[in-house]
Amino acid sequence: MRLILFGPPGVGKGTQAKILSSSMQIPHISTGDMLREAVSRGTDLGKKAKAVMDAGQLVSDDIMIGIIREVLASERCSAGFILDGFPRTVPQAEALTKVLADLRVHLDAVLNLEIKDAAVIERLSKRVTCRQCGRIYNLAIDHLPDPLRCPNCGGELFQRDDDKPETVQKRLLVYAKSTSPVKEYYRKTGILFDIDAAGTVDQVNLDIRKALGQRL
Ligand code: AMP
Repeated sequence: MRLILFGPPGVGKGTQAKILSSSMQIPHISTGDMLREAVSRGTDLGKKAKAVMDAGQLVSDDIMIGIIREVLASERCSAGFILDGFPRTVPQAEALTKVLADLRVHLDAVLNLEIKDAAVIERLSKRVTCRQCGRIYNLAIDHLPDPLRCPNCGGELFQRDDDKPETVQKRLLVYAKSTSPVKEYYRKTGILFDIDAAGTVDQVNLDIRKALGQRL
C-alpha cells in the first residue's frame, strides 16, 4: 500500500501512521520527524530548517522534494509507504506524482483527516512526544503516571517547540493557505477519502481501515 495521511497539524496523522505502519508492515515516512532529526543532529539541513519550523512556516519545496525523492526511491519503501506531512503544497504534490511515475508505482489512497481548528489548538497544547521511542501522548486523555516519562520505554517526554499556541495559530494559517489546496488536487483523482478525526484514536483507525477496505 502507498498511502498519504493528510490533514492539519495536530489532527492525528503521526499517531495513525504509526499504528498503520506497524500493522501493515510498511514504513512511516514523516518529513517533520526527518527535519527534527536533522535539527537535533545539527546537519546543514537542520540548521536551515530550524528557524523556519520554529516560525510555523514551510521548508522550501526544492529541499522537501529532494528529500522525498531520495527516500521513496530507497529499498526501504519498495513494498509501500505511509507519507505523513508530505505533500504540503500543490508543487510538492505535482512533484510526488512525477517521482511515483518515474518509479512506476501509484498511490492507493489519500486519507484526509478533518477536525475543527479549536480542537487542534486544544490537542497541541497537551501533546507530548517521547524523545526515545517517538510515541505521542495527549496529557488530557492518556492520564500518564508521570507526565515527564514515557510509559512505553521510560524515555523523556517533551513538548515540541512549534506546539506553542502562537506558532500553532501560524501553522493553521499556513495550512489553510498553502496545504489545504492539495486536497482538491487529489480529490480530482478519485483516491481522496474524508475521515472525521474528532473521535478517539481507535474510532479514527477503524474509519481509516473502512476507507482502505474499499481500495483493497
Ligand atoms: P510536522 O511534524 O509534519 O507537523 O512538521 C513540522 C514542521 O516541519 C512543519 O511545520 C514545517 O515547518 C516542516 N515541514 C514538515 N514537512 C514539510 C513539508 N512537506 N514541506 C514543508 N515543510 C515541512
